Amino acid sequence: MKRVCIIYTGGTIGMARTDSGYAPDEDYLRAALADIASQAAPELPVFDLIQYDPLLDSSNVALDEWIAVARDIKSNYDAYDGFVILHGTDTMAYTASALSFMLDGLTKPVVLTGSQIPLAELRNDARDNLITALIIAGHCDVPEVCLYFGGFLYRGNRATKVSADDLVAFDSPNYPPLAHVGIRIALDEKRIRPAGSGLRLVEFGEQQIAVLKIFPGIQFEVFENIMTEHLKGIVIEAFGAGNIPDRQGTMQKLLTRARDNDTVVVVCTQCLKGTAIIGEYEVSEELARAGAVNGYDMTVEAAVTKLYYLLSLGCGTDRVKQLMTENLRGELTIPIL
Ligand code: ASP
Repeated sequence: MKRVCIIYTGGTIGMARTDSGYAPDEDYLRAALADIASQAAPELPVFDLIQYDPLLDSSNVALDEWIAVARDIKSNYDAYDGFVILHGTDTMAYTASALSFMLDGLTKPVVLTGSQIPLAELRNDARDNLITALIIAGHCDVPEVCLYFGGFLYRGNRATKVSADDLVAFDSPNYPPLAHVGIRIALDEKRIRPAGSGLRLVEFGEQQIAVLKIFPGIQFEVFENIMTEHLKGIVIEAFGAGNIPDRQGTMQKLLTRARDNDTVVVVCTQCLKGTAIIGEYEVSEELARAGAVNGYDMTVEAAVTKLYYLLSLGCGTDRVKQLMTENLRGELTIPIL
């Protein structure tokens, strides 16, 4: 009999309507799971539930919750064939990316899921997402942190939320899904990372990190105050292939400040798809001069959590810069130029 541990952090999946909008309901999910378990379908793994208190809207999930989930996985690792993390959709891709870095050497599936409509509603996507995630975690050989939603299994650190209201709410623009779920669960085995050599937990510590989305007319003065020596890393969401305005004074002061403060500057694209390569266009020259590094095709979620990871390892600035451009957990593809 396969065994799965469900870690329930909150999110729409277990919410109920209240006078002030959807809010977590402490009892609903446990009762619904008991109902699902009573059906005794052979493919349904046996499961246990760890329910967090308080249950959170994922807008409030951050480092403490990532660490709590990672510790619960570590301490229950040997007792289960896989793990399902029930989580709000809003920051699910961040948590999936964070766990992919925290949980080094995975040998079992860790599947995040949630829903756009609560399980308590008559018409919902929660029941399918939950049951399919349980089956994947119990039966499929996917030793990765992944995200199941709306018929697709994605690598967790490649996924991003793309819709606030569609039931297919996520996409993985720069890496194909690991599985498509229709009548059958069709795993694409060549896309799945090989099993690691055993779980090691790397906990994140608090780090000052920023994300800056470039837009036409951006003025350095607006961001001047964040560019302190406490800022350890900044992800720049640049235009297209990694481009920024280079007319005098716009970005230069900000980048000089970052270089002087030893702040790691990582360049991602604000396009949903594709890769950022500093130097492809002349307008990215200032980034090169400032020692910025390519985030290539990483999602911003992956870039931010990778910065947390590398800075928490205690690496020096040059090592962080180097590792940001390397593929550590399948989170980026280095382009063949
Ligand atoms: N606000 C909710 C959350 O992220 C949305 C959801 O779960 O779909 O917790």
